[in-house]
Amino acid sequence: MATETLPATFRDITRAELEALKAAGLFKEERYIHAPQGAEIEVEFPAGAPLKKVLNLCSNNYLGLSSHPDVLAAAHAGLDRRGYGMSSVRFICGTQDIHRELENRLTEFLGTEDTLLFSSCLDANAGVFEAILSDKDVMIADRLVHASIVDGMRLCKAMQDTYKHSDMGHLEEKLVEHAGKRFRLVITDGVFSMDGDLAKLDEIVALCQKHDTMVFVDDSHASGFIGRTGRGTPERFGVFGKIDVITTTFGKALGGASGGCVSGRREIVELCRQRARPYLFSNTLASVIVAATLKVLDLVSATTERRDRLEHNARYWRGLLTQAGFDIKAGESPIVPVMLYNAKLAQDVARDLFAEGVYVVGFFFPVVPKGQARIRTQLSAGHTTAHLDKAIEAFRKVGKKHDILGKSKNEIVDRYGL
Ligand SMILES: *Cc1c(COP(=O)(O)O)cnc(C)c1O
Repeated sequence: MATETLPATFRDITRAELEALKAAGLFKEERYIHAPQGAEIEVEFPAGAPLKKVLNLCSNNYLGLSSHPDVLAAAHAGLDRRGYGMSSVRFICGTQDIHRELENRLTEFLGTEDTLLFSSCLDANAGVFEAILSDKDVMIADRLVHASIVDGMRLCKAMQDTYKHSDMGHLEEKLVEHAGKRFRLVITDGVFSMDGDLAKLDEIVALCQKHDTMVFVDDSHASGFIGRTGRGTPERFGVFGKIDVITTTFGKALGGASGGCVSGRREIVELCRQRARPYLFSNTLASVIVAATLKVLDLVSATTERRDRLEHNARYWRGLLTQAGFDIKAGESPIVPVMLYNAKLAQDVARDLFAEGVYVVGFFFPVVPKGQARIRTQLSAGHTTAHLDKAIEAFRKVGKKHDILGKSKNEIVDRYGL
């Protein structure tokens, strides 16, 4: 009889899979940060190497609030007033006054009717579809929606379909095709995380009004900074208050710790409160995060200064990259992808930039489609012009080394392959 339960072949087979990832240049490694999140951080990479101070161009700390003193103070005060853990799910004994207060504040901020907190936006997306739709209904998603939406849709019994990315003609065909369903729900990200482009929400809402269809928007990469007052993509496209379901995260611009929500029509939120499994079967959002997120909403509601600076930084950085001759995805968001197409090239450029003191990460399949490898740079209100001027020097140097400045997609692909 075997002495352990692990099958003899398990390690061999899984190690071969891991080695194959390394051989293909697809293996992901963590970099240990020895500092709070911010524009400049101390990083240990590779593990065991001496600490290196680098400029951070890859966090979702869009508004620079992750380590803001007022947010930290609010977290400390929340800890003192409401304790550390609730040791319960919401509906048993895990709901404090501040949980409801945050839900009400989010409802106002997002322009909806009600809101329900989750431990993450991934949890919100995992729970919402199954809670509100049945096998009589259909979900029609943009083909580039976030992985957590794909997973949430898999848990729901409604029929699934997709439309080509941001293709309104194709979306309308699908709306017509599924006219016989009880309810249709169109599902999109507000800002698409890998390309940084925005969903055409004005057109989507108009089409859905015409075809009596509900709209779902995951605004994780928009809440707090897209739109004139940072209310997200609905504000940007003039459809604030018209979206049936919004999910978003507090783990990006809104403080960056964790947590998320479903916000929308009263009945939709109430069904989530009754049925959403991550809400029913997972612990409540920690009070300390609730207290800090309330402060974040105060800060972003008091002034648009941070989102304005972020917008300026994004425009400035796009200009610098373009002048230097990099191939970037056009857009207006603080997500600025530098296209390299080849996965190994993306890894090599990221490594060389790190050596030059700029922290960015290469993205490649399966995070983006094959042959679409890139470095995704992300701006923050915490960046100064001096930071970005320094970063572009590093980008120029590394770009020159790999001979990609001023090169077209075809020239890069001819040289490096896909
Ligand atoms: C980051 C992200 C999520 C996950 O949010 P968490 O709160 O970290 O779980 C979900 N959807 C989109 C579109 C995201 O960008």
